[in-house]
Amino acid sequence: MSGRGGIARGRYGFAEWTLTTVEGMAVRYAGKCLSCGERSPDVFEADDAQLWCLKHAGSVRHSGFEVSAFQYFDAEMVDGDSGVRTP
Ligand SMILES: [Zn+2]
Repeated sequence: MSGRGGIARGRYGFAEWTLTTVEGMAVRYAGKCLSCGERSPDVFEADDAQLWCLKHAGSVRHSGFEVSAFQYFDAEMVDGDSGVRTP
């Protein structure tokens, strides 16, 4: 994963389409309580999402949590002759 303030980049191709990470949109993390379904705000650091889980456990005594990572992508159609179209 990227460091603090870093921007993750990647390209993933499938058939004539490719996914490109949205410029400036790093991987984000969110915590979720499996008991009541409450979710943390999404944050840039996994540690911050885990801290939300600990605070929630301390305040309401729920003990099952999920921390997930997510990222936004743009899908672009690939030009068969010269690679990816540029805007
Ligand atoms: Zn809860």
